[in-house]
Amino acid sequence: STQEVDKWVKGVCRMCGTGCSIYVGVKNGKMVAIKGNVDSKTNTKGFLCIKGMNIWKVAYHPDRLTTPLIRKNGKLEPASWEEALSLIETKFKEFHKKYGYDSVAYYGSGQCTTEESYTFNKIWKGGFGSNMMDGNPRLCMASAVAGYLSSLGSDEPAGAYEDIENAKCIFLTGSNTSEAHPILFRRIARYKKENPNVKIIVCEPRKTQTSNIADLWMPSLPGTDLAIFNGMAREIIKNNWQDNEFISKHARFTQGDGSNVSSFDEYIKFIDKYTPEYVEKVTGCPAASIKQAAEWFAKSGATMSLWCMGLNQRSNGVWANNLIHNLHVITGNFGKPGSDSFSLTGQPNACGGVRETGSLSHLLPGCKPVVIEPWRKHVESYWKVAEHSINPAKAINPKPGFPAVKLFSSLGGENENDKPVKGIVISTTNPAQTLPNLNKFIPNIKNAFTVVIDIFPTRTAQLASVVLPAAFLYEKGGVYGCSERRSFLTEKAVEAPDGTKPDLWIACQIAKRMGLEKFIAWSNEEDIVKMAEMAWNDYTGCTANSEKTLAGATYKRLKESTTGVQWPCPSEDHPGTYKRYVRGMDPIFDDPKKYGLNIPADADMYFYGRPDGKINVFMRDAEPKDSEKISKEYPFLMTTGRVIEQWHTGTMTMRIPETASAHPNSYIEIHVQDAKKLGLSQGDMVRVESIRGMNILPVKIVNMTLEGVCFVPMHDQKGNRMVNFICSDVVDATSGEPDYKVSAVKIVKI
Ligand code: SF4
Repeated sequence: STQEVDKWVKGVCRMCGTGCSIYVGVKNGKMVAIKGNVDSKTNTKGFLCIKGMNIWKVAYHPDRLTTPLIRKNGKLEPASWEEALSLIETKFKEFHKKYGYDSVAYYGSGQCTTEESYTFNKIWKGGFGSNMMDGNPRLCMASAVAGYLSSLGSDEPAGAYEDIENAKCIFLTGSNTSEAHPILFRRIARYKKENPNVKIIVCEPRKTQTSNIADLWMPSLPGTDLAIFNGMAREIIKNNWQDNEFISKHARFTQGDGSNVSSFDEYIKFIDKYTPEYVEKVTGCPAASIKQAAEWFAKSGATMSLWCMGLNQRSNGVWANNLIHNLHVITGNFGKPGSDSFSLTGQPNACGGVRETGSLSHLLPGCKPVVIEPWRKHVESYWKVAEHSINPAKAINPKPGFPAVKLFSSLGGENENDKPVKGIVISTTNPAQTLPNLNKFIPNIKNAFTVVIDIFPTRTAQLASVVLPAAFLYEKGGVYGCSERRSFLTEKAVEAPDGTKPDLWIACQIAKRMGLEKFIAWSNEEDIVKMAEMAWNDYTGCTANSEKTLAGATYKRLKESTTGVQWPCPSEDHPGTYKRYVRGMDPIFDDPKKYGLNIPADADMYFYGRPDGKINVFMRDAEPKDSEKISKEYPFLMTTGRVIEQWHTGTMTMRIPETASAHPNSYIEIHVQDAKKLGLSQGDMVRVESIRGMNILPVKIVNMTLEGVCFVPMHDQKGNRMVNFICSDVVDATSGEPDYKVSAVKIVKI
């Protein structure tokens, strides 16, 4: 209760992308409780899920790292901060000199603060002149980024969570929202309970708890749902349910990379083969369900789609994203309350921290590709790269660096002829568990000069050359930006344990030692809160003239706010933006020239990220070309996902007693008919094997998939049952995101 704490400090939960805002209860300088923020628009009436309620306990686990470690004679030994940072400086300078500036990489996280990601991005791209930096959002959101960029011309959703309560139909696809975004799901469930006429459609290979509130569950074989989306589009047009006015004003039909122009008639011809019966044959989804879903989607008056990893983590993830946007364009479901094509983000700060600050190998702050010369020149000039860079080129490299899977494939070479990336800093993420086809990458992490910044000795830390003990979010503070473009400041609640340091401080130490003291102006500050404020000001100044402007979200305002600020927010007196692309709601319309954009004076809705202001409707073949197919030897399709109690590799949730006891170890769900054929009973152990690797897993028999489909959760306490040993490392050709969702496996009783 409030009587039992000395103070409540506002912040945000860091255990999923929902972005629930919280208050941390502090007593005698220690965190002792968490409560939900009932004022916030970002959570639901103060509710928190089991992860959020217990998050503070992470900070006091005995496994906390409190001293730097350096590998000596094969063993990680305690060292001083000076010793560890000097070693990093020596090695990085040596690699830069011997192998060039791209030989040292940074791999960040959607769980770093925005100030941290921005600072590392500035050091690497501006200070070192190297784009060899990427982050774990590559493994979860890159296809959504490329989907928004190719369809709408600008990343991130047009609408916000507020659309949920205005929708008449909610289409959930590629998202087990009830377990991956629990409090957001409860918001949807509550709305459905109060408004039973609202239609909920769930399109997923598994009949999960999310489907429990659905009016319609559309099953599909993993990897085939693009055919469902094209089939729904065909059904909509065949019945004349499309919005012709919206199409004529806002649609541009195209193929391939989007450079050519096609027509609505060509599009109709293209999707004609996706009859409900054909789609049923390809996907396993009943033809009647496709017809019903098409009708509800098109005729509701306000349809909102929400999706997550089920679409993104695919070899054709960008195309899957494009096809969802298509459905919204042809039915006119953009720009109205309750109508939106909304990608849920996986991590709490993948949007704000990584996408918006451009902390991926192909982006710059403002989420604009590094290849776009005018923006590159703007960032170069804002950062004063010519004056400060230690790279003789004195410029930002116009060539993108390596996306995650390529980066870790290129890591750990011993000489100039071997793999080109020799050293890496890995912050707040655990790639030795999260990368697909792990057997391939673990030796590379081990062979490289790997620096890991974390609060616990993760599997990656155990392979590292240097481990730096980090401060936890509530011990340092910083900004997180969730799925709905909302940036929220977590205030520092307590002091970090002796021996630990915030990532931002570490970034600044690296900058100073590498000769970038003046370039990172906040590197000489002592106070971490002041450092973060300076980094934030630098970032919001750099992006003030982009459509992602947060110029009005000053630190002062963020400190005072209990709801955060949604971009675009051009000035302190602007309330922030619920709906983009609509005149009267989106401030970009007030002064488009300021943002380098043209918006016709008479346009009420305009997709200004695209040169003609129209959304690309892509003709995308549904055939999953690169995703794995079943064979005689590997006859099952395996897909992956989350459980509600665990968060990613379990670094934190496996150390909270309340969550560690629930689903700590991985297992395999097998359809009851398949279990019969294989002679399996509940709890039997099986060997699950793909061409890449195998796991021994206990069996859970279910009837919530199609026959031939099995499911393995992504979490495992010890790491020896990690599904990542089996998963495919094939990536989407455009986004570089790996296909965790479709692997062909065999299952053998042992
Ligand atoms: Fe935290 Fe997500 Fe649970 Fe909200 S739903 S409390 S953000 S883990």
